[in-house]
Order: sequence, then C-alpha cells, then structure tokens
Amino acid sequence: MANPSLLILPGDGIGPEVMAEVRRVIDWFGANRGLVIDVTEDLVGGAAYDAHGTPLHDDTMAKAQEVDAVLLGAVGGPKYDQLDFSVKPERGLLRLRKEMDLYSNLRPAQCFDALADFSSLKRDVVAGLDIVIVRELTSGIYFGEPRGIITEGNERVGINTQRYTESEIARVAKSAFELARRRGNKVCSMEKANVMESGILWRDVVTEVHAAEYSDVELSHMYADAGAMQLCRWPKQFDVIVTDNLFGDMLSDAAAMLTGSLGMLPSASLGAPMENGRPKAMYEPVHGSAPDIAGQGKANPIACILSFAMALRYSYDAGDEADRLESAVNDVLGDGVRTADLLGEDGVEPVSTTQMADAILAKLDATS
Ligand code: NAD
Repeated sequence: MANPSLLILPGDGIGPEVMAEVRRVIDWFGANRGLVIDVTEDLVGGAAYDAHGTPLHDDTMAKAQEVDAVLLGAVGGPKYDQLDFSVKPERGLLRLRKEMDLYSNLRPAQCFDALADFSSLKRDVVAGLDIVIVRELTSGIYFGEPRGIITEGNERVGINTQRYTESEIARVAKSAFELARRRGNKVCSMEKANVMESGILWRDVVTEVHAAEYSDVELSHMYADAGAMQLCRWPKQFDVIVTDNLFGDMLSDAAAMLTGSLGMLPSASLGAPMENGRPKAMYEPVHGSAPDIAGQGKANPIACILSFAMALRYSYDAGDEADRLESAVNDVLGDGVRTADLLGEDGVEPVSTTQMADAILAKLDATS
C-alpha cells in the first residue's frame, strides 16, 4: 500500500519556523513508529505571492486536492498589508477552504494540567478540560444573500442573511456525531431556535440525523447564549459542541481562551469523505504569522505540533500515535519547559522554538 500523503504549506512569519519543528516530529514517527508519510512542501500566502504573484498557485491547489491532508503554518504580515484584496495572503487560505469544501471546523479546547493557571478561570474549572467545538464553516450569515448596505428613505441599512439548507446542517451534524464517537460520545447542538427560524430548522435536522444514524450518541440542545454562559461556568460538562458559522466563531474563541496561550491551539477543517473513507482535511494552528516575534526563535511550535496530532487522529487513523504525541507535549509542560508566551511570574528561563521541539522529541524517544 502507498504511504499516506501530506502537503505542508509553511506560509509566512513564524509559519516556516514552527513547521520546521513539525517536520522533525513527522520524521520521528516514520523512523520510530513505522508511520512513513510522503511529505511535499509548497508555498502559500505572502511567500506564494512573492514567488508567483498569487497567494496560492493553481498547481498548489491541485496538489491540495490530491493528498490525504494539508498542514498549514500561517499566512500574512505587514509587508502584504497594502496589497489588493484579491491577492492578499489570506485569500490563499480562503481558496483552500472553499475549493476543498471544508465545511466542518474543529477547534479543540484542551487544558494541559501544567497550564491550568494560565486560564482566566479558576484551576478546578479548567484543569483536565477536553472539549471540541465543531463550527459550520462554509454557509450561514457570512455567506447568505441578500447582503449589503442599502439606503432606505433617509438612512442606511446594513443587511446580512442567515441561511442554511437541510443538507448543510445535516453534513456538519454528521461530522460532529462521528467525532463524538471517537471521544466522549456526547454532542450538544447550539442555536437560537427560540428567536430564529434557521435555528428551528437547525434543531430539527440535527435531531433527525441523530435519530436516523447516531442514536448511540448522547444528544442535547442548548440556546447559544446559554451555551456561552455554560462554557464559562462549567465547560467540562461538554464533549463535542456543534453550532453554526456565526455562533461557532464566537463560542470557539471564548472556549480557546479557557486554555491560555494562542501558541497552544490547533485546529482542523474537514470536508466530505474521500474515496478512502477519510475526510478531506486541512490542519492549522489557530494563531497567525506573529510578525512581532518572527525570525527570533521565540515562537511556540506546540499549536502546529498538536495540529499534526489531529491529522494523525482524523486523516491517518493513528489515534494511538496522536495520544502518544499529546502525552509527550503534556509531559514536557509538566516538566516546566516553557516558550516565552507561556511564562508566568515564576522567572523560568524560556526555551527557543527548537528547544521546545527537542524536549518533545526526547519525551517521544522515551516512549518507544
Ligand atoms: P497572531 O496570532 O499572529 O499574533 C497575536 C499575538 O500572539 C502576537 O503577540 C504573537 O507574537 C503571539 N503569538 C501568536 N502565535 C504565537 C506562537 N506560536 N508562539 C508565541 N506567540 C505567538 O495575530 P495578529 O498579530 O493579529 O496577526 C498577524 C498576522 O497574521 C496578520 O497578517 C494576520 O492577518 C495574520 N493571521 C493569519 C492567520 C492564519 O494564517 N490562519 C490567523 C490570524 C492572523
């Protein structure tokens, strides 16, 4: 059988720095766990614009459609701020999401014990937290028509439309139920069925999909505003939360902050199943290109390393290896190893991007 494939797109700013460390981790799994992945690398964002005058070359897009998974670093930076909207670095990212039809965005909020004090919430509320927010990514109010700013009488009116079809709701619901089966087997669906028709349809369709195919998974429903409150009050009550594009945008950012630093947060964007039964997929850290620290060896590589752990779990059917990698990260943090973004007030000397990866690789070595 052919090796699984991965397209790496390091991008701009700290993207290439953190990705260089992820490549060492990928190589470790090939050398020590028999998990050899065929890796190709290409340009995206400002780096692609510099080379080709476009933030994503058509050849790169074609490659992304063919591989088992894409792993992206970050795009953007001040150098590109003045570019026309159509060639801005972010357009490369948006094109990948759109053309791969990645409708299901997974944002885990996982709190490593050693970092529980970084949260703005009390330690016992967040320690051991492990939830995933599944956000619908390609429809809803950010895309619905009509939209725009019109003039009515003597004043302007801003319009956006929340629109969801049954099939759009059903496919993201399925993605959440499938995910729950690999985790704690619980899904909480969030909408505003009390005040929005699209919310009523959302609740109906999620309930129908559940009854038809996923009755083994525990399903609950919550209004999104109550969900926001519960996320802050007792987030550990959740396992998987599924919600629309707008509510997911806000709830996933709120959940992310439960766990502390931006340098720790991975994400996955999944689409329809491919011939091999696994979803089209792109993995990326939540953070951007961090121009303020780029080129200084200060970036925390963990968000990108954990994004690769998600790829192991969802694209390469290697959940055990994902657990191994996440445990190594947990152990390193438990030993007090910290990049600069994770420093508290105890005067610990920060390690560099490479030293953090060295420490994680040493923990992996100790497991094999
Ligand atoms: P950012 O995420 O790049 O940085 C915000 C802050 O967090 C900065 O102080 C940065 O130093 C810090 N930070 C981020 N990642 C870190 C890491 N791994 N280790 C240590 N510290 C880290 O967001 P920003 O400053 O608003 O945006 C900078 C550029 O990135 C902009 O061009 C923006 O458009 C782009 N951006 C890209 C993406 C993406 O590629 N997905 C996401 C967000 C922002």
